[in-house]
Amino acid sequence: MTSYGIHWFRRDLRITGNPALAHNWQTTKGNTLGLFCFDKKFLSRSDFSANRFQFFLETLQKLKDELKQYGGDLLVLDVGPEHVFKTLVQYLSAESKALPSLITWNRDYEPYATNRDSTMIDFFDKQQIAHKDFRDHLIIEPHELEKAPGEGYQVYSPFARKWMKIIREPEFWSRIQSSKASLDKYKSKSDKPRFGFTWNEVLDTSHPFKDQLETYREDNRKHVDIPIPKAGFASALETLDSFKTRIDNYKPDRDMPSINGTSRLSHFVKNGSITTSQIVAYLGLNYYDKREDGRDTYFSELVWREFYYHILSRHKRVEQEAFLPKYKDIAWDNNKEWFDQWKKGTTGFPIVDAGMRELNTTGHMHNRVRMIVSSFLTKDLLINWQWGEQYFMEKLLDGDLAANNGGWQWAASTGCDPQPYFRIFNPWLQSKKFDPEGVYIKTYLPELKDLNAKELHKPILSHKTYPEPIVDHSKQRELALELYKRY
Ligand SMILES: Cc1cc2nc3c(=O)[nH]c(=O)nc-3n(C[C@H](O)[C@H](O)[C@H](O)COP(=O)(O)OP(=O)(O)OC[C@H]3O[C@@H](n4cnc5c(N)ncnc54)[C@H](O)[C@@H]3O)c2cc1C
Repeated sequence: MTSYGIHWFRRDLRITGNPALAHNWQTTKGNTLGLFCFDKKFLSRSDFSANRFQFFLETLQKLKDELKQYGGDLLVLDVGPEHVFKTLVQYLSAESKALPSLITWNRDYEPYATNRDSTMIDFFDKQQIAHKDFRDHLIIEPHELEKAPGEGYQVYSPFARKWMKIIREPEFWSRIQSSKASLDKYKSKSDKPRFGFTWNEVLDTSHPFKDQLETYREDNRKHVDIPIPKAGFASALETLDSFKTRIDNYKPDRDMPSINGTSRLSHFVKNGSITTSQIVAYLGLNYYDKREDGRDTYFSELVWREFYYHILSRHKRVEQEAFLPKYKDIAWDNNKEWFDQWKKGTTGFPIVDAGMRELNTTGHMHNRVRMIVSSFLTKDLLINWQWGEQYFMEKLLDGDLAANNGGWQWAASTGCDPQPYFRIFNPWLQSKKFDPEGVYIKTYLPELKDLNAKELHKPILSHKTYPEPIVDHSKQRELALELYKRY
């Protein structure tokens, strides 16, 4: 049997500019098989999102189609990688078939993933199967950027300064250049990798590995309650093309939720349909000393993302608790009725309710509004940020542990380099400033369409269907200050 490799896909669901896949393909001369395995346990997680999962499954389908088009193959299984690889090795040995000569994957930095990967490395080593992992999901990995040997950063500004210093070194900038080269090839249609191998050549008819993708796509679809956007690398690139025409206005527009001013790429970035390195390359962004225009501002947002990965990978405990120890056990009020009203978007604060309804009906929420609703939950309703974090994960198509945890801990002032606890957003002033005409509010709260702009930025009393504010912002602000001062 010809020698072959397996590329283990995880959150790198694309072919173009996929470093581990490319290495496998080159080493095995195109005899690379794609494998994806998720664990059924994942489906019963309390923050599981059927909507995000469907987007993920659609992305896998696109990847499978693309691989097949190039003569390759993708096998999607629903038992965890430990079980899959163990059973595969047993099966191949029993059938006297060759084991893969190489297994590759791109690195992941979430605590669960790093534990899983070290278990798998031990297993491959024991089986004497060659394996190699690559950087892909981040431009600069957490271990490559240190304040002092062994010491990571905890404040964004010095982190970003060091990041911008390092990226211009040829070793690091070449990462952007190689992303550019692969995108250029894709665009010029000269990058048509030929894969010479399919799973049928390894598994005979009685094999125990039944592809699960179609079953899951059909079954999970029944639980989806929002329109699922187009998935895959080509759609990500289309979205990027559209953003390219708007990036110069990013600085003023990105804070206005009624304007299509941001990239809307985060759900693609989340599963690796496209990487941030490819985005930087495609937009022709350059490193900067001082943030000046929309391009620099956009670049700095990508660095925020890297910052939160840096924090999560070096302080795994943030997944479970406040980064700042003094805020681990805040005596939140945790009023369940208010929490339900927040979730449904019936708090009587139009900007908050519009945000929550955007989230519930589209799986997305504008960044400015994420900041407003998270501040409102923690500092107006005095509800534990972890409740909000979990609800976001249940709903967001881009739900991502590092960014979501970072965003929530920032808003709740419990995190690394957070908003100071005494800076409490006033939801009325926020809506006046960032949605002055109420265009965003009225999009998601059509029942308020007849109100004039001014009426939307103060309590709405005696409306036929829209509720009065559930709390008084000034009073709650005082309570929040008292609460935080206790720690
Ligand atoms: C409470 C809260 C929760 C959040 N949860 C998530 C989440 O689960 N997943 C997620 O991807 N982002 C999260 N963010 C960050 C941000 O809101 C989204 O990345 C952004 O709204 C996505 O839209 P976009 O792609 O149009 O953003 P753009 O403005 O175009 O930003 C470009 C890219 O930069 C990254 N980015 C931007 N802002 C941030 C940030 N503050 N932190 C980390 N990365 C950032 C994203 O990858 C984004 O695609 C959260 C922010 C807050 C305040």
